[in-house]
Amino acid sequence: MAQEDIFKKLVAHCKEYGFVFQSSEIYDGLSAVYDYGQYGVELKNNIKKYWWDSMTLLHDNVVGIDSAIFMHPEIWKASGHVDAFNDPLIDNRDSKKRYRADVLIEEQLAKYEDKINKEVEKAAKRFGETFNEQQFRDTNQRVLETRRKWTALHERFAQAMNDMNLDELRQIILDEEIVCPISGTRNWTEVRQFNLMFSTEIGSTAEGASKIYLRPETAQGIFVNYLNVQKTGRMKIPFGIAQIGKAFRNEIVARQFIFRMREFEQMEMQFFVKPGTELQWFEKWRDARMKWHRALGFGDDNYRFHVHEKLAHYANAAVDVEYRFPFGFKEVEGIHSRTDFDLSQHQKHSGKKITYFDTETNESYVPYVVETSIGVDRMFLQVMAAAYCEEDVPSADGKSEQRVVLKIPPVLAPVKLAVLPLVKKDGLPEKAREIVDSLKFDFPCRYDEKDSVGKRYRRQDAIGTPFCLTVDHQTLDDNTVTVRNRDTMEQIRVPIAEVRGIIAAKTNFRELLEKLA
Ligand code: ATP
Repeated sequence: MAQEDIFKKLVAHCKEYGFVFQSSEIYDGLSAVYDYGQYGVELKNNIKKYWWDSMTLLHDNVVGIDSAIFMHPEIWKASGHVDAFNDPLIDNRDSKKRYRADVLIEEQLAKYEDKINKEVEKAAKRFGETFNEQQFRDTNQRVLETRRKWTALHERFAQAMNDMNLDELRQIILDEEIVCPISGTRNWTEVRQFNLMFSTEIGSTAEGASKIYLRPETAQGIFVNYLNVQKTGRMKIPFGIAQIGKAFRNEIVARQFIFRMREFEQMEMQFFVKPGTELQWFEKWRDARMKWHRALGFGDDNYRFHVHEKLAHYANAAVDVEYRFPFGFKEVEGIHSRTDFDLSQHQKHSGKKITYFDTETNESYVPYVVETSIGVDRMFLQVMAAAYCEEDVPSADGKSEQRVVLKIPPVLAPVKLAVLPLVKKDGLPEKAREIVDSLKFDFPCRYDEKDSVGKRYRRQDAIGTPFCLTVDHQTLDDNTVTVRNRDTMEQIRVPIAEVRGIIAAKTNFRELLEKLA
């Protein structure tokens, strides 16, 4: 099945099974804003816990905070967001649709890459086992020609972005003959800068009110609390501050479901280090973060680093962790070496001294910062995309049927255990409820008695429940139940007393976190 079709099905599945809903749906929705449903919120909380614990439990020099969304407006001047948090946008006059100019060009680059990969795939099929991919890539004329076009475009694009040369961005779009996907025409406007911050007013009277912003990132809440945490926690450099919270960006092109939202959640950690050591720490955190992603077991090949050529004005190194989404490799997380830019700016704008006295070297300095920044929602989409499977399985009548199963790592799954009485009589429901009542303190359990057991299994598969426990007549005699594994569909018969241990062993955070240690 085409990847786009899989993605469409995934989006529909998220809605049908209570993971994600369009915001304000009964009023026809609010674009690029989403709500999480009964299962979505559980998965989201588990993702946050995985991140939070990996930061604050595994590192005794990383502590957390929770800062407010509203902040003093001067903060956004200091951080550069008022002047420079812009996207270059372009409109198509025929469709009246608005696009990010840089994204249009990035998509063109991806098209060249796709073309090369298709040539390679075709040749691999033609030559069979004797195929030497590297040799083919190095010598095939069509591949070389496309590679040359890619390189030329890439260099031109990087230069235009570095200079923020809006005319040149437009010229690239024209020269590459990029068309609007809706109208199919090249009737483009000029490229303009568009600030992504939402603003509102604080204060009750019109005269006394002043303009403030909804934070576009959580990081600044950490920077402006640096001194508070360092002093009250008697933190010694190097140390980190972690935070999970909402961020808001008036994204121009809001597409791909929860990949790009106007209200979203970030998990950010700012690690404060001695100047000169930042690139070592950058590498350390880069590798630690990749390990965190890969520990979920979705396949190492599905992740890659993307090194930034264009560095933000404050950064001296930056890399993205990208995941292979159904719509291609895309950023899930950014790791940035932000130098002392933010703290120095806040020192300048607030007039407060923000330095660290290093008792080992007897010197004072403004710490450098290495940041790891990941979107909760994007991570959620990554987990869902990786977990969504359609499989042919044997049906009750001996034929085969299709099941949709979310192979969410058990530790992240919204519900860990479903307890199902085989029939709705003979005391089986009572026994099943008794089991739920004793296990509900340990993990999220659900009781379900409606429809055939087969149908109930499918429902649990569809929300990713790793274990289903069935209570049958034998249970009443010997206190044993069957436990079915979501992925293998194997069933084992075990004493009720052993269930807690079996489920706990597979769904605890400890096992996952130990992979990171
Ligand atoms: P992009 O290039 O995709 O716009 P970015 O480089 O601006 O992202 P950062 O500012 O580095 O993103 O933000 C860190 C992380 O926050 C991203 O890796 C992503 O996971 C998440 N994120 C950023 N913008 C959004 C958004 N509009 N919706 C959902 N998640 C987002």
